[in-house]
Amino acid sequence: MSDLLHSLRHNLADVQQRIARAAQAAGRDAQSVTLLAVSKTFPADAVRAAHAAGQRAFGENYVQEALDKIQTLADLRASLEWHFIGPLQSNKTRPVAEHFDWVHSVDRLKIAQRLSEQRPDNLPPLNVCLQVNVSGEASKSGVAIAEAAAIAHQIAALPKLKLRGLMSIPEPAGDLDAQRAPHRELRELFERLRNDGLALDTLSMGMSADLEAAVLEGATIVRVGTAIFGARDYSR
Ligand SMILES: *Cc1c(COP(=O)(O)O)cnc(C)c1O
Repeated sequence: MSDLLHSLRHNLADVQQRIARAAQAAGRDAQSVTLLAVSKTFPADAVRAAHAAGQRAFGENYVQEALDKIQTLADLRASLEWHFIGPLQSNKTRPVAEHFDWVHSVDRLKIAQRLSEQRPDNLPPLNVCLQVNVSGEASKSGVAIAEAAAIAHQIAALPKLKLRGLMSIPEPAGDLDAQRAPHRELRELFERLRNDGLALDTLSMGMSADLEAAVLEGATIVRVGTAIFGARDYSR
């Protein structure tokens, strides 16, 4: 077994165990949490090795980097999912609509409208999450909590999108209680929207440092990069 495959197997098992422990503590089925492996800055070979280790869902932040990997890994396309999770400019929506299965980072109606218009007719609707700026969100992207309901209803009406739920990137926090607070805010908004008639099933929250807090608050997708692939080197 190659060193890369060996270390990815080890790291994936470790992260799955963290998810399983947190799910158990929350009285949840660990199967209700999907692990999204965030492969940004890592080469196609790393994704191929993670796939060989059993990982199926991959998250990418940068359009061109992702398109290169999707093309390199075209032979695996039927057995993996590509999720776009980075900031999306309106002039970059077309390749995302054409090549991804999910977009977690929809943060305005215009982006959603373009993705819907540009989603090819031969593909199923694009799964999307509305990114919400919960209190103190580090990236400052995402809609305000007060605006979320109106935008969510408009996105849900677009023909080639399927609004699955909500996503957030809270500011890093040290202890578990501080990590849980913004995740709880997102979950409460999610519950309000569901009570309001939106058929949502996805809460995309939690990363390497706070995935336990996210699972305790109801995350259904955790987005994990560093704990799987190691530290990122942005200089390359
Ligand atoms: C990079 C990134 C992640 C993964 O972060 P890690 O701390 O490396 O686990 C998750 N979500 C988004 C939106 C990201 O950009």
